[in-house]
Amino acid sequence: MTDLLGSLSGAPGPTGPDAPQCSRRGCRAAARWRLRWNNPRIHTPERRKEWLACGDHRDWLQSYLTERGLWRETLPLDGTVPDDAVPDGGDARA
Ligand SMILES: [Zn+2]
Repeated sequence: MTDLLGSLSGAPGPTGPDAPQCSRRGCRAAARWRLRWNNPRIHTPERRKEWLACGDHRDWLQSYLTERGLWRETLPLDGTVPDDAVPDGGDARA
């Protein structure tokens, strides 16, 4: 018999003991935002680095990246990632 439950250990989770923290130095607040950035001088164009930010530091980190021309996008950490999904029906009336 194979113990399938054993494979659950170590699975990443948003509310686990290792919940993501803000990337701001010295801040231990729970992260609520993902700031995605790319440094064209050292990264390939499609590469994305990611910082995590709490509500207080999102603007600070985004400004930091924007000033350096690195910022690409900010997304909520709660999983509500915007996508191109069409609502039920897909009735595209102009
Ligand atoms: Zn913070």
